[in-house]
Amino acid sequence: MHWSTTTAEECVSRGDKKVVIETGTSISGIPHLGNASDIIRGECVRKAVERSGYPAELVWVADDSDPFRSVPKGMESLKEYLGYPVKDIPDPDGCHDNFVEHFAKPFLESLKSFGVKPKVYSGTEIYRSGQLLEEIRIVIERRAEIISILNEFRDTPLDADWIPWTPICEKCGKISSTRATAVDGDKVSYVCEGAEVKGGEVAGCGHQGVSDIKDGMGKMPWRVEWASRWNHFKVTCEPFGKDHASAGGSYWTSKKIIENIFGRDAPVPVIYEFLTLNGEKISSSKGNVITPAGWLEIAEPEVLNYFMYKKLNKQRDIDLSRIPPMADEYDQAEAQYFSSAGSDESLQYLLSQVGEPKKLNVPYTFCAVLAQVVPELDDSVIVERANFSGYCDFDAERLVERVRVAGNWVRQYGPEQLTFTLNTVDGARKEFSKLTDVEKKCLRELSKQLDKPQTAEEFHKTIYNTARANDLKPPQLFKAIYTTLIGKEKGPKAAALLLTLDRNHVRECFK
Ligand SMILES: [Zn+2]
Ligand SMILES: [Zn+2]
Repeated sequence: MHWSTTTAEECVSRGDKKVVIETGTSISGIPHLGNASDIIRGECVRKAVERSGYPAELVWVADDSDPFRSVPKGMESLKEYLGYPVKDIPDPDGCHDNFVEHFAKPFLESLKSFGVKPKVYSGTEIYRSGQLLEEIRIVIERRAEIISILNEFRDTPLDADWIPWTPICEKCGKISSTRATAVDGDKVSYVCEGAEVKGGEVAGCGHQGVSDIKDGMGKMPWRVEWASRWNHFKVTCEPFGKDHASAGGSYWTSKKIIENIFGRDAPVPVIYEFLTLNGEKISSSKGNVITPAGWLEIAEPEVLNYFMYKKLNKQRDIDLSRIPPMADEYDQAEAQYFSSAGSDESLQYLLSQVGEPKKLNVPYTFCAVLAQVVPELDDSVIVERANFSGYCDFDAERLVERVRVAGNWVRQYGPEQLTFTLNTVDGARKEFSKLTDVEKKCLRELSKQLDKPQTAEEFHKTIYNTARANDLKPPQLFKAIYTTLIGKEKGPKAAALLLTLDRNHVRECFK
């Protein structure tokens, strides 16, 4: 069974009024595909629950009350904001209200193209509007129990006078630098004494103040906050990376807190292995990132959804030089779906859809070749050339879209073998004149074979047979085709290339 089916069954069996799937992203730089892992999988659970006839809602929380702990690559000017809540940092480019909006807005906008439209919350707003007040009160009042739960999972235990509230310093505005010292009802005394964060030293201003939790100017520590949010949103299910689920990971602490302090079941966990990018850890500080918007430039959203919906317990790599195999795998599932085989793959395919499933059945690599042959990307030419290459029964809109993205991909990440520039007729004739008489004869024969639509496999055989019939070694004929048409000794599959070209152009080149 697909993992979303079992998860959906487990969610529904809890009997909540509706299934609430919570996701969240800490906004500390450009949100990338690694950050989108939980929200894209959360949407898969939402669809699976909805398919079973039960109401479901996807929630996304911007973790924007977190402190700014390290400076992303290329944003060195923001170093002075280390230690501030990210929500209170200015937009580095000045085009949005603040740092968070600058990154969250385009992130959420691009996720719409993947069919992901969650109910959006700001962690900071949840605090400042008082929505978590009840939870904060409970947590502070029962802090002795909280401390003992947290200490079960800590190497260095918290002191008995520790307070689960980190105030924002009312004087300097930082959150990393403060420490709560005493509680009196809703009022938490604190001192702004400074701290060390990942990106460096955060100086305290020395202020001693009082934070009224009713104002929500601060935050609970992560594990306590997570449990409080589960309670507040009545969360049924939460997808997260496996670090949260490791021994001593935050899921286990937050699970104990929600069960023992709030008396609710912990959400059904959806635990996934990490994604890597080009074999390396995805990292905004190292600049090894691809954003959802970046993906939409090089492949269809459904291909990524399908990839993300694969078994979750395996580490997977997005190798940008190997997008075609990812698309091929999706295409196979598509073929299965339309042959109504009813397999797990076809369910995964169906769940990956943003709109109605539409058959394409034209390989990504072929589209990458076509994009280089028809650079102006005239829709009708694209359709006509695909037909001529033996592809029929496809959705034209999807084909045009795939040619567009495959073209972007091949220009940016395509391997040498697949990348080319078409020779002009003059350039081609110059190369043609250097060929042997037998090679010239073979090419002329081939151009005559190009008068009827056929598949690349069929035409591939024709190239072989033509070479053999003229006592020419096939590799020599392939080389002659490439040098004449694209000025290189190697290139994409010769048969596919020839079929995508304008017939008159080929005849003129081989004159
Ligand atoms: Zn902006
Ligand atoms: Zn301060």
